[in-house]
Amino acid sequence: MKNKLLLRLIIVHMLALFVFKVGVSATAIGFFVFFFFVRALGLTVAYHRYFAHRAFKTTRFFQFILALWGGLCAQRGPLWWASKHRKHHRHCDLPGDPHSPHQLGLWGGHIGWALKAESMKTDEALVKDFKKYPELMIFNKYHDLFMLSFAALLYLSGELIAHYYPQSGTSGFQILIWVYIINTLVHVHLTFCVNSIGHVRGSRPFKDHQCEKGDKSGNIPWLAWLTAGEGWHHNHHTFPYSARIGIQWFELDLGYLTILLLEKMGLIWDVKLPLLHRRKAQQKAGTILT
Ligand SMILES: [Zn+2]
Ligand SMILES: [Zn+2]
Repeated sequence: MKNKLLLRLIIVHMLALFVFKVGVSATAIGFFVFFFFVRALGLTVAYHRYFAHRAFKTTRFFQFILALWGGLCAQRGPLWWASKHRKHHRHCDLPGDPHSPHQLGLWGGHIGWALKAESMKTDEALVKDFKKYPELMIFNKYHDLFMLSFAALLYLSGELIAHYYPQSGTSGFQILIWVYIINTLVHVHLTFCVNSIGHVRGSRPFKDHQCEKGDKSGNIPWLAWLTAGEGWHHNHHTFPYSARIGIQWFELDLGYLTILLLEKMGLIWDVKLPLLHRRKAQQKAGTILT
């Protein structure tokens, strides 16, 4: 097969079939659920809201922790992710958008774009603000090695549990299939769903305040619940700088709740909010009268 990326994608999907060989256990489900949340939050808080949008500030040390956290999701390095995403906002649903379903069709916007060799390059001109950090440049370049170490750690954890608690019915290979393969695929497709159906379906409560020219994004509740807030995609394209994506009180946004927790812990600060929430906070503090 000529397209190595397509071949790799097919192989990873086929590896998921090993689930019928390794079976399931409560331990494997526990690992799956734990990493489902850890990775959903890593993607939205670290890769998306911090590296792509700088929605809050932090120290250089915690910035690197954020890179590792988002890096766990197997969606390449932080600078690659941020550069592609910044390009998406810059050309939203217009020519130049790397994964708009309005330019490439639903399949092209979902997965087809990621199968092109040029899509794999980090556009460094779009992440100049992070280029001065060698630790980020190195991590971005050798992200595959990080993922291999993660795979080794998962395998080792499964083997250790099997050795000391044989009644758990798990194994290194079982944990590897459930987390490294299935969990990764679930997250990859959820992210792809935000890019594809998140730009053709869903409600558009702020359509009169459109911020990005070609934007056709929509809010899809089920997608938001599964992605720690990412599915409120129309809100996000209306207030792209904001750390808070769930705008209404009922729009569950686990990513923002995590950001609030990190802020309380003193790890991050200067958390950016949409204008309407900033007004409310100022009103509460009595700094504005209206
Ligand atoms: Zn989008
Ligand atoms: Zn964004």
